Amino acid sequence: MTAGPQAGADAVVVRVDRDRCIGSGMCALSAPGSLALGADGLAEPVAGHGADGEELTPELTEAVDFCPVEALTLYSARGGHRIAPAE
Ligand code: SF4
Repeated sequence: MTAGPQAGADAVVVRVDRDRCIGSGMCALSAPGSLALGADGLAEPVAGHGADGEELTPELTEAVDFCPVEALTLYSARGGHRIAPAE
């Protein structure tokens, strides 16, 4: 069986705290393959990537780092532990 990147040890799940998000759109610009603005103007994971995890890319790390209100959090898709930002 071949494991794709979404099943790998480094797969991550990105979560958006929509109570914090102010809809700046920075994350959607930084990581358009992972995050987009929804119909309500707030960020949400791109369909199909939110639940099962995705490959951790520099773009996704940058999006999390530069969110002005720290609304984005990365978790390990396997262990569920928090990866970024650091607690
Ligand atoms: S960068 Fe942060 S505040 Fe801006 S849209 Fe993304 S999650 Fe929302």
